[in-house]
Amino acid sequence: MAYDPDNVFAKILRGEIPCKKAYEDDYALAFHDIRPQAKAHVLVIPKGAYVDMEDFTAHASVDEIAGFFAAVGRVARELNLARSGYRLIANAGPDSRQEVPHFHVHILGGQDMGPMVDAAVRPRHI
Ligand code: AMP
Repeated sequence: MAYDPDNVFAKILRGEIPCKKAYEDDYALAFHDIRPQAKAHVLVIPKGAYVDMEDFTAHASVDEIAGFFAAVGRVARELNLARSGYRLIANAGPDSRQEVPHFHVHILGGQDMGPMVDAAVRPRHI
């Protein structure tokens, strides 16, 4: 899938639409999700143009990958989630129902996050 430069996170990176910024450095921008699904719900996106985890890990430089994941950890710490715990979600591709085609990691926490996968979609044998 080719990168769509008009996706909403690309517009946020270019400053064309606002966000509630949580953190920014050379490799990553973090901002609060517009429709939070937990008490703490922050998105971390790389500065580069990558569609999803597959695109990012196949094409980004080692510096970009290291810088990005260091930022994810830093944001979780700055949100005071390191001790209580948190969940990371990175949807990738159709089965995941990824909505925004710019790679991002959701940091979710501030509460018990419940089962990892909704019971409604778990295979019966599990
Ligand atoms: P995903 O389904 O993993 O692609 O998640 C996309 C996330 O982006 C959803 O949780 C949306 O609520 C969030 N989102 C969409 N538009 C914005 C926006 N303008 N600012 C902040 N979060 C957004």
